[in-house]
Amino acid sequence: MSSTLKQAQGFLDFVNASPTPYHVVENVKKQLTSAGFACISERLSWAGKLKKNGKYFVTRNSSSIIAFTVGGQYRPGNGIAIVGGHTDSPTLRVKPTSDIKKDGFTEVGVETYGGGIWHTWFDRDLSLAGRVFIRNSTTGNYEYKLLKIDRPILRIPTLAIHLDKERGKFEFNKETQLRPVLGTDSESLSSKDAEDNDKSFEVIKSVIQRHNKKLVKVISEELNGKPEDIEDFELVLFDTQKSCLGGLENEFIFSPRLDNQVTCYSAIQGLIQSTENLQSETGIRLVSLFDHEEIGSQSAQGADSSFLPDILHRLTSLTFNPTSDLSSQLSPDHFFNSMSKSFVISSDMAHAVHPNYSENYEALNRPKLNAGPVFKINANQRYVTNSPGIVLMKNIASIGKVPMQLFVIRNDSPCGSTIGPMIAAKLGIRTLDIGNPQLSMHSIRETCGSKDIEQLVNLFRTYFEKYTTIESKIIVD
Ligand SMILES: [Zn+2]
Repeated sequence: MSSTLKQAQGFLDFVNASPTPYHVVENVKKQLTSAGFACISERLSWAGKLKKNGKYFVTRNSSSIIAFTVGGQYRPGNGIAIVGGHTDSPTLRVKPTSDIKKDGFTEVGVETYGGGIWHTWFDRDLSLAGRVFIRNSTTGNYEYKLLKIDRPILRIPTLAIHLDKERGKFEFNKETQLRPVLGTDSESLSSKDAEDNDKSFEVIKSVIQRHNKKLVKVISEELNGKPEDIEDFELVLFDTQKSCLGGLENEFIFSPRLDNQVTCYSAIQGLIQSTENLQSETGIRLVSLFDHEEIGSQSAQGADSSFLPDILHRLTSLTFNPTSDLSSQLSPDHFFNSMSKSFVISSDMAHAVHPNYSENYEALNRPKLNAGPVFKINANQRYVTNSPGIVLMKNIASIGKVPMQLFVIRNDSPCGSTIGPMIAAKLGIRTLDIGNPQLSMHSIRETCGSKDIEQLVNLFRTYFEKYTTIESKIIVD
């Protein structure tokens, strides 16, 4: 298999195993662990625990993750080469009470998460995935298990065109019509039984009382548990159709969640591949993947949270000298020195030109599929790319032989944004926005170029390997 196809296939396996941010973090952890990275916890002191040439990762809420390597020649105050991305994608989430019965059907109440193209969720073979909290009856502790039901149990049916008064003009109500059907209504346990079962005090109704009982049973069976042991959960819907190669010559990837699992996969691959030459590295290389970008990043683990600043403060305050007990008492100067020598690549998907809607794109800056990652540029700082950043990345991409493209939005078009501006504002680190081109961003099934995965992996690997030698040549105070 060619290296291009190998990276494309690696991504397909990753995205197929990752229907939620919890699964993204779990699968990133697996890749890092098998590459020799060690897990560290925010709950413990890091003094004396980290070593030069060491490889580590730390998670927050199991939905955001930061992985980093410490160079063999690292000194406090040296720079940090960062790639940032996000783990979440638009989806539908099961409501806290979700059991709906209507016209002989059972349905599940769902809440929209992020700005999905919701009409693409109709007539798809859907299932459930997420995180389920279970009480361990032996220890009395509460543990979470990841859930991914690998068969289509849900569907949001369209209305037959014969009954559609608007005849093809597809508009729908997101509360009442974007609602998945779970089955036909033949509940074996009558509501009277349920009431009789439980007379004891409860703060809120149990999971079994709030959700479809058969569904809760299926969830508990998937996790080898009992329905009554489930304390709570966070479940979202996903399309059971697998991500795959497509197009006449397999030049496309047809897939859910390209935005932004392409970054999660490629950044981690780039970091792992770059660890061969850690001995001579003077800086830290770091990947930060955040939850909650699609809803504004304001949470304890989003890009606007303290997660990345906290980790950077901890790292820059350590001497990396195991014999010294002063390891947490370095001057705060080191933090500021380090930030001014550091750099963030904010990586998120970009818009490739769409042949049937080319009038929606700016005339001269139109990225194409399979032609390399895209510099995202915006005068109003929705993207923070500037010329020193472009000069730096041009140097890095030329060493890695990665072609790059340019994107700017039309003045009469709305523009998306990324985690780039908020990280730049929070930390004062030089930042730029890049991303691989794709079509149909935020559809349940998106399209990107299969050759572009390898290009992005190569770009990140070269960035991690070469950043510290190139950055000192491009200084703007
Ligand atoms: Zn995104």
